[in-house]
Amino acid sequence: MFRAILYLLITIFLITIVRAVVGVILKGFSELVSPGHQRRATARGPSDGEIPLTGELKKDPVCGTYTAAATSIKQTFGKETLYFCSPQCRDKYVALH
Ligand SMILES: [Zn+2]
Repeated sequence: MFRAILYLLITIFLITIVRAVVGVILKGFSELVSPGHQRRATARGPSDGEIPLTGELKKDPVCGTYTAAATSIKQTFGKETLYFCSPQCRDKYVALH
């Protein structure tokens, strides 16, 4: 009877160890994989940063998106210069006015 309990305890102990080992291995794998993701994420960062951090933000009158004056689509209507996020928005504005 005692032996049965001992075997049970050993089994539980072994399962715990195996789980811990598997957990460490899985963690190791995820850490092997995730730095690549992080690198890709940081690689994406500077390209987002290319959208000028300096410079004026202009509101697209069609969709309401704020775009940097330097990268937006400029269109002059009489005296007014408007800035659009995309040619589609500009075309919409032109169609409406
Ligand atoms: Zn827009």
